Amino acid sequence: MTIDPSLKVPNKLAATVDHLLPRSMGGTDDPSNLATAHLSCNSSRGASLTW
Ligand SMILES: [Zn+2]
Repeated sequence: MTIDPSLKVPNKLAATVDHLLPRSMGGTDDPSNLATAHLSCNSSRGASLTW
């Protein structure tokens, strides 16, 4: 589903920044480690919402 950048958390379809390798596992904030994901997709993956 397309991400609409005008939507804001806690809208389930808001854009969130997802770390491909979680910070807790040594991932960085480098753009190569970041991807946008819907809030609902991000949380369903069990990713940390703190970054
Ligand atoms: Zn999604």
